[in-house]
Amino acid sequence: MKLAVFDHDKLGVVVADRVVDVTAAVDGRVQRGPDRMIGVIEQFAALRPLLESALAGPSIPLDGVRFEPPLRRPANIIAMAVNYLEGRTEAAPANAFQKSPCSIIGHGGTMVLPDAPATIFEGEAELAVVIGKRATGVAAADALGHVFGYMNLIDGSARGLGPPNTFFQVKARDTFCPIGPYIVTADEVRDPQRLQIRLWVNGELKQDFNTSDMARSVASCIAWASSVHTLEPGDILTTGTDHRGLSAFQDGDRVELEIEGLGRLGIGVRDELRRTWSRDTRAEHEAKGHKGQTPQLSGKYAEKT
Ligand code: MN
Repeated sequence: MKLAVFDHDKLGVVVADRVVDVTAAVDGRVQRGPDRMIGVIEQFAALRPLLESALAGPSIPLDGVRFEPPLRRPANIIAMAVNYLEGRTEAAPANAFQKSPCSIIGHGGTMVLPDAPATIFEGEAELAVVIGKRATGVAAADALGHVFGYMNLIDGSARGLGPPNTFFQVKARDTFCPIGPYIVTADEVRDPQRLQIRLWVNGELKQDFNTSDMARSVASCIAWASSVHTLEPGDILTTGTDHRGLSAFQDGDRVELEIEGLGRLGIGVRDELRRTWSRDTRAEHEAKGHKGQTPQLSGKYAEKT
């Protein structure tokens, strides 16, 4: 089942190219407001038959609705760092960071680049897991039983801010966590380790990789993260990216992310400073004989970085 929030806090189920308003089916059982999807997740076994019955109701074409983030206030957004092999033979040590729930935007939203001396702004295409059942120290073998579903997530990054190798100023910024357009329940995803992930900037394919290249599987990531702290229903665990296809996000960009079976998440980018960079990906920059990131070409911070 594909669960969405749309048009001023309506709960929807997406079926093919239409969305059915199922708000009434859960009213009285789950409180409205920013935490409603968490309530739906917690009670999903009981609610599912009610949602299925509601599918007979009237539906709206997808292009006639405005999607909102499917989750607004998860207790935790845990993001795995360096979790793809990218041609290496050995996994890096497990590492992660927290993104702020304040950073969430939905399909059709805008990532706003801050007036800060970042060397570059990037957005990482990632498979995000939505936790369905509380998980504390779960074994990898049991971990997928704690998954409610999956969705697209773009891990926005303002590189070069803060002390080296720290994440807060880089990752936790407002609007830097686009998710959606909806959550796809786990029963519709046959194998989370065999999903193609593609991200386009202004129609040009930049990232194109498969979850089979993960250094630590979805199950291992959940086991590891839940060994650090308890994961709650509605929590988001995002599983990292292949960095080679990253390129600079810039003012006016139209970014689209599509993971097989999870729909297409589209966002805009706004930068009041109108900074510019080369459009090369990291891999293209390196193939031209350069090291490091594509340099900033214009804007008030260009000389300093
Ligand atoms: Mn990431």
